[in-house]
Amino acid sequence: MPKETPPEDKPAAEKTLTDGFNRFRDKHYENGAGLMEKLVKNGANPDFFIINCIDPRNGADIVFDAPPGQQFLHQQMGAIIPPYDADKQAELAASLSYAIDAKKIKHLVIMGHSQCGGVGALVEGTSDTLIESWVKMAAEAKRAAEGKVGKTDKEALLRETERQTVIMSVKNALEYPMVKKAVAEGRLTVSGWYFDMEKGALHDYDPKKDAFTQIAPAPAAQKARAKHARRRPPHYPPPRKAA
Ligand SMILES: [Zn+2]
Repeated sequence: MPKETPPEDKPAAEKTLTDGFNRFRDKHYENGAGLMEKLVKNGANPDFFIINCIDPRNGADIVFDAPPGQQFLHQQMGAIIPPYDADKQAELAASLSYAIDAKKIKHLVIMGHSQCGGVGALVEGTSDTLIESWVKMAAEAKRAAEGKVGKTDKEALLRETERQTVIMSVKNALEYPMVKKAVAEGRLTVSGWYFDMEKGALHDYDPKKDAFTQIAPAPAAQKARAKHARRRPPHYPPPRKAA
């Protein structure tokens, strides 16, 4: 049975979205001088194409605090990119073709993330046959992770499979004809990134070292603030007494 929103909840549920839309409109439409109006008039020419997971905690517009027009977005479970097949990956191939050849994007970023439910379904199995048939496209990433960290420590295996899925997806993306051609002609870079949601850290895969290294580390002042915040007792600062 499909899950249905009870009719009485619909206006309240929609209000979450319409309130958000009003905030977006206030920010980006400014009586004819706003960013959206310029983008509508002149078109958008983004430099980036981001492929990431459908997980609602790692939306690329949120993670990169992106203004409208900065990046193309494509989301698929686990940020898994299967080997190129013109029929099966028609949507991704068409989107990449448009972004690379018509809009001349410069950077393709494939971003996996920690605590990924899609990769979790791959490692731990799932009774949902549709999810299973999708995530098994990353079976080679799971095998590579098992080869690195073994099968005993489940958490270690999950984290390593998430990273290996990024590596596999980059390798597969480089075989998509429009990507391959643009990279060969020096007009496109392809990066594999890993968003550690637990630590709030971003890592980039370096194929020469076969390792992920942290990029955009938090500035020292921000780290100190976070450390200080962790040390605070539960009620710091003490609540003010009502006048
Ligand atoms: Zn995910």
